[in-house]
Order: sequence, then structure tokens, then C-alpha cells
Amino acid sequence: MATKFLLTFAICRLIVTVGLTLDPADLLRLEVEGQLSLEPADVAMASRDFGGMQSAEPMAVLHPASAQDVACLVKSAYESALGFGISARGHGHSINGQAMTTNGMVIQMSGSRGSRLGSGKPAPPRVSEISMYVDVWGGELWIDVLRSTLEFGLAPKSWTDYLYLSVGGTLSNAGISGQAFNHGPQISNVYELDVVTGKGELLTCSKKQNWELYDAVLGGLGQFGIITRARIALERAPKRVRWIRVLYSNFSAFTQDQEYLISLHGQAQKFDYVEGFVIVDEGLINNWRSSFFSPRNPVKISSLNADGGILYCLEITKNYHESNAETIDQEVEALLKKLNFIPASVFTTDLPYVDFLDRVHNAELKLRAKNLWDVPHPWLNLFVPKSRIADFDKGVFKGILGNKTSGPILIYPMNKNKWDEKSSVVTPNEDVFYLVALLRSALDNGDDTQSLDYLKHQNRQILQFCEDEGINVIQYLPHYTTQQEWKRHFGDKWALFSRRKMEFDPRNILATGQRIFTPSI
Ligand code: FAD
Repeated sequence: MATKFLLTFAICRLIVTVGLTLDPADLLRLEVEGQLSLEPADVAMASRDFGGMQSAEPMAVLHPASAQDVACLVKSAYESALGFGISARGHGHSINGQAMTTNGMVIQMSGSRGSRLGSGKPAPPRVSEISMYVDVWGGELWIDVLRSTLEFGLAPKSWTDYLYLSVGGTLSNAGISGQAFNHGPQISNVYELDVVTGKGELLTCSKKQNWELYDAVLGGLGQFGIITRARIALERAPKRVRWIRVLYSNFSAFTQDQEYLISLHGQAQKFDYVEGFVIVDEGLINNWRSSFFSPRNPVKISSLNADGGILYCLEITKNYHESNAETIDQEVEALLKKLNFIPASVFTTDLPYVDFLDRVHNAELKLRAKNLWDVPHPWLNLFVPKSRIADFDKGVFKGILGNKTSGPILIYPMNKNKWDEKSSVVTPNEDVFYLVALLRSALDNGDDTQSLDYLKHQNRQILQFCEDEGINVIQYLPHYTTQQEWKRHFGDKWALFSRRKMEFDPRNILATGQRIFTPSI
């Protein structure tokens, strides 16, 4: 009781401090177990993100101890006379302030601290071995989901390249990596969700129960509710991974092979992961995603007769268990035989499954050691229809980018039929589309071509080029500043998206940092 009083008092004081006249009766009903923080360090953390280009200060940060805490805060915002914005923040790895809010509250979903009295943390992952799923708190990081499920010899099927992202954060977008061609994005691998809507109701939803909320929330950019629990599909975890990279100088040979490999989805004889990247920089294959190439044996682009100075690297893996360790060499060999890469360009390594999944974390540690992780990241992620990927190559990789990229450029195709059309996410209207991810870091080192302004300008040039050439790209992890642009982004799905918003978050209080709807507060 004392705790409740203290928290209520803290919130009331906070509201008075910022000069808002919220109805105190609403706030007196707040019964949160977690920690409400006005600590400058917490507020500062919630004011920034991985993009490093935006900043917005919330009034306070709630570290919830349960879904009920989340519901309590959202309900009080929804019912109070003036209302206030509420943004769930997973791990803050957005680029453009999507998890921020001004004059509102941030609910810090990851990194739970438990309640003020030392108990009441969100439940840890619970694995069902029989039904092959795991129930996880919405703020759980994927790395922790993996660790928990591996204790049972199980693992989720679909991943992101980097695991220090929250479940709620990736499910609000899609969650993609090289497994998506086969298993679909992460949002296609969720059986059930608990969601706190913008009215403060805590609802369980699935394809069978409250299905409209379930469809809306997956890929819903945090607009319809806060995911407090997700039930994620599991498979038997492979023990090891054969990880292979091969090079191409010819773009159409590269994309033909990628498209062939993803057409093998569902078959036993296929690679388990298909990605790729473009190598434009500096003549050496040497960026933070390609440390895989031995530094003792750097590959010179010039030695490989690259088309316009550009190489394309196909990245593929084959998972295996102890039971098929003896046949892995033959299986890989048989698949590689069908591909048309540069013959002398096969790089192979073999490692435990968990090390493969957690590969980007090593790159993070290296960049952190050089103070190169917390820099501005003007990333641009695009879905490009298969029919126009060659035009994109000509105009962007061989044109606009010049010979510097300031970071890795990923490119890999996915099968549209693995994406649920009913979810909120939008993808190009073709059976196969590519992710092109320009993952750049801006540096303040006197080199204009690495500056934030230069890279942002280049992003605009790329979007303008696509517009001029009629290449119907769709932004992944989208960022727009006007509702007109959002309408265009969603196209045919806009009417449904905005109707669902009216239904599940009628006061537009959730995830205001996405700048899709104006809060009525
Ligand atoms: P946040 O940035 O905290 O939040 C993102 C949005 O989701 C916000 O609008 C927020 O309000 C909302 N949100 C957060 N939690 C919840 C919740 N529980 N319920 C409802 N809404 C919520 N993406 C891929 O698909 N594949 C990749 O391989 C990949 N690699 C990445 C690598 C790095 C280094 C980085 C920085 C990002 C990468 N991403 C990738 C992008 C990433 O998936 C998204 O930015 C994701 O939103 C980040 O998760 P987060 O927990 O940090 O979310």
C-alpha cells in the first residue's frame, strides 16, 4: 500500500511539475508494482536511440513489473482529461525516434528491474517442449529468448541478424534475416500475443481469438497496443552451422542464384539461410559485417575482375545436428554445384549454432572498443520488387553510391507467400522481393563523404531515383513525417490501418514517435 501511495504521489508531483492539469482522480487509481523513474539517466536513455539523430524527452520512465503495470499506465492516460502519450521502448534500436515521446511517458520494456520492493519482475521465458513454443515477456531480448530455449534443445525458427533487440520491437516491424525465405519473418512465427490496447485493456489475441487485434499488432509499428507476451514457435535447435560466402562480379548471376536458392523453401535439400551483400568500398573486403574474410588473406576486388569495381557476396548457411554431421560436406557440395559464383572465391567456416546467430554482437564489441558504435546511423532499409532489382543495382550500387558506402549493404530476396497479408506490414506486390539495407555510420572525421549530411542527402537521392524511375520500393522500418507520406506507404492498407487505430487506440496515445497519427491530448 505504501508503495502504491509513493508511486501515485510521484506521478502527481510529476504532472504538477510539468504544469499539466491531469485529473488527479485518474492518477490516484494507479496501482503499479514496477518503478516509475524521474532519474535523469533513465530520462536521458529514453530520449535517444541507435539512430543517434533524434531526441525527445519523456516526462518519466516506467519500468514495469508486469502486464498489469502497463495496462494501468495506459488506462490512466486514456481516461484522464488531457491524456498523455505513451511509447513502449524495447531496446531503443530504432533509427528515427520511433520509440520516443515528448510530454508523455516511456515504458521501458527491456531490462526489467523488478518492483520497488525487490519482487515482481515480468515472468522469464516459459518453454513448452511438447507444443514447441516459448512464452516470453514483450521486452525480452532475442538473445535471452535463445539462451532459454537452448536449455531445452530448442530455438525459434526465424531471426534478425542481431539479437540485442526486443521481441516487441521486432514484432512491431517484421523481424527478418536469412531464414525469412523459408520460415517467413518473425511475425509469421507467433502463435499468440497478450496486448495492452490504447484503452488500457489487456487482451489475449491469436488467429482464433481477437484476431483483428493480432493481425493489427504484428508489423503494426506499436500503433494498436503494447505487446506484453508473445508465444513464439520453436524447432529443434541445430548444433552447428556451415557458413559459406562466395563472390560474384556479375549482378544477374548473383540474383539468379539467390532467387534459385530461395525457391527451394520447404525442401530438405536447401540452405537454411540466404543473404548477401554488396562490396563497393576501397578495393578490400573489409567492413564490420565481413570480418569473416581472413585478415591475413584480404581479397582484392581488382584481382577478381569486378564489374564496375563492385562485387556481390552470397552468404549462405547449412545447419546440422550430430546425426547428419557425416553428410554435411556432400550436402553443401551438391548445393554449391548448382551456383555460378567466381570459382576461386569460396570462403567457409564452421561454428556452433549460437555463435552464428549472435555473430553481429562480436562486430558490436569491436566497434564499441573503437568508439564507433554510438555514432549517428542514417540507415535506409528498402523492399525492392524483384522485377526492378537490376535497375536498382545500376542506378544505386553502380551509380549514386560512388565507391564509398560507410557501412554494409545487405541484399537478399524473400518469398512473399511467407508473409501474412492480414498483418499490418506492407511489402511489394510481387512473389519475390528484396531487402536492400544500407547500414551506414556517419563519422565526424573531416571526410565529407562520411558526414551525416552527406549520407542523409544520399538517402534522399536514392528515394528520388526510385520515384523518378517508377521503382516501387517500400521502406522497411519506415520513417515519414507527414500523414500524406504514411498514406502512400500503406497504400491499399491505409483504410484498414486507420480504422483499426480508431478501434484500438482512439486517442492516438501509443507510439507517437512514429508520427503517423496526431495524439488527441
Ligand atoms: P525500439 O526501437 O525500442 O521500438 C521500436 C518500435 O516498436 C517503437 O515504435 C516502439 O514504440 C515499438 N515497441 C517496442 N516495444 C514494443 C512492444 N512491446 N509492444 C508494442 N510496440 C513496441 N531488423 C530486422 O528485421 N532484421 C535485422 O537483421 C535487424 N538488424 C538490426 C541490427 C541492428 C544493429 C539494429 C540497431 C537494428 C536492427 N534491426 C533489424 C531493426 C530492428 O528490428 C528494429 O529497429 C526494432 O524495432 C528494434 O527493436 P527494439 O527492441 O530496439 O525496438
